[in-house]
Amino acid sequence: MQLYLYDNWERQLRPFQAIRTDWVGLYCCGPTVYDYAHIGNLRTYLFEDILRRTLQFNGYTVRHIVNITDVGHLVSDADEGEDKMERGSRKSGKSAWEIADYFSAVFKNDLTTLNMLEPTLWCKATEHIAEQIAFIQVLEKKGFTYANSDGIYFDTAKQDDYGYLARLNRDGLNAGSRVALGEKKSITDFALWKFSPEGSTRQMEWESPWGRGFPGWHIECSAMSAKYLEPWFDIHCGGEDHISIHHSNEIAQNQACHGTRLANFWMHGYFLQLDASKMSKSSGDFLRLQTLIDQGIDPIAYRYLCLTAHYRSQLNFNWDALSGAQTALGRLRDSYFALPDGGECDGDYLVRFTEEINQDLNIPRAIALMWELLKSNLGPSHKKATLNKFDEVLGLGLAAWQPAIAAAIPAEIEALAAKRQQYRKEKNWAAADQVRGELKALGYEVEDTADGWIVKSI
Ligand code: AMP
Ligand code: ZN
Repeated sequence: MQLYLYDNWERQLRPFQAIRTDWVGLYCCGPTVYDYAHIGNLRTYLFEDILRRTLQFNGYTVRHIVNITDVGHLVSDADEGEDKMERGSRKSGKSAWEIADYFSAVFKNDLTTLNMLEPTLWCKATEHIAEQIAFIQVLEKKGFTYANSDGIYFDTAKQDDYGYLARLNRDGLNAGSRVALGEKKSITDFALWKFSPEGSTRQMEWESPWGRGFPGWHIECSAMSAKYLEPWFDIHCGGEDHISIHHSNEIAQNQACHGTRLANFWMHGYFLQLDASKMSKSSGDFLRLQTLIDQGIDPIAYRYLCLTAHYRSQLNFNWDALSGAQTALGRLRDSYFALPDGGECDGDYLVRFTEEINQDLNIPRAIALMWELLKSNLGPSHKKATLNKFDEVLGLGLAAWQPAIAAAIPAEIEALAAKRQQYRKEKNWAAADQVRGELKALGYEVEDTADGWIVKSI
């Protein structure tokens, strides 16, 4: 069945066709590791996880690359102010390298806790300085750069369609921002290489053909995606805030260096909002996954909550909705757990599910279909097999989940309960009742549910 994805370059749904036959290249802009990731950031990674799972569901092998921005992202996206890493270091009293390691590790742990698939490759900006310098040298040779006292800049006036992804009105932007221009020729020009401030040493700095300094924020993604994928690959993702600056600049670099607009599809996750404004790291007013866990929320309930909203619409965070998600997840797990093994995935439901996810990841509709399946009169074991298939995309980890109560049930008790179930199947009610009595004597009871049974200690 054809997969359709919304491409922000063309601003429409397009049928997905892989560029290569052996793998699909998926590059996702990763975290800037000067602080914890917040649950808004995690929403974007959840969308990317669903995208990857959907591609795999459609039979593609995905080469999934996520970068770690551990240098060069300045306090302002417009290349002004301090480097976020150096500022984080100053505030915490730890080295920039230490905080990068610490926050990267916490971030990776958050992804695992939310049952996201491990990327094929993580790559750090600081480990690809040579590649970034080589990229800038090509841009320089081709005449797309200029130097000022602050660094080497990309000259956006050299490209007629600069900013097309964001449908930027360059003339309007330049006219409105004469004061903020500084030494830049146009307001949209951006740093490729920044010089270390004279007379002081940065913690993160390198020699380059232009002088000691550090790379601008955007060049790492162009250099690393070309290295680990191709200069022209399938899908590039990030949050919606990347459209107008970071991704526009990545595209400008690639167009100048390789003559490609980098990726065939540009996809963006929309914001998680807190009190009607973007949850943001720099404001300091944000919720971490750990904050939810401390409040008694199962992290997978946050995953479930995100699945109930389409990735191209903003989601307003609120605690009531989150606890509603936790209740729904609990119900889902109980129902799933009560279902017996041994069935087969239902063909009709599979087709309907695939239709939903292949229509630009319509996961809210896929979730509704999952509940419809549970209420249907499909045989219990077939329901379970079908749910297992759905969960390859939803990633709720249903098969791995163990209710605390059932986990404590000894194997011989489970075996007795299964024996009783067998007798019931054979309509041998007397034998079934006798086993029920044995179980009771041992301190357990069997509860029949609509879809099967569960054992509980009395
Ligand atoms: P950062 O670590 O700030 O570079 O951001 C990591 C990812 O999270 C990027 O793809 C951002 O676009 C995305 N992002 C930032 N804020 C939000 C938010 N409130 N909701 C969803 N995604 C976000
Ligand atoms: Zn990027």
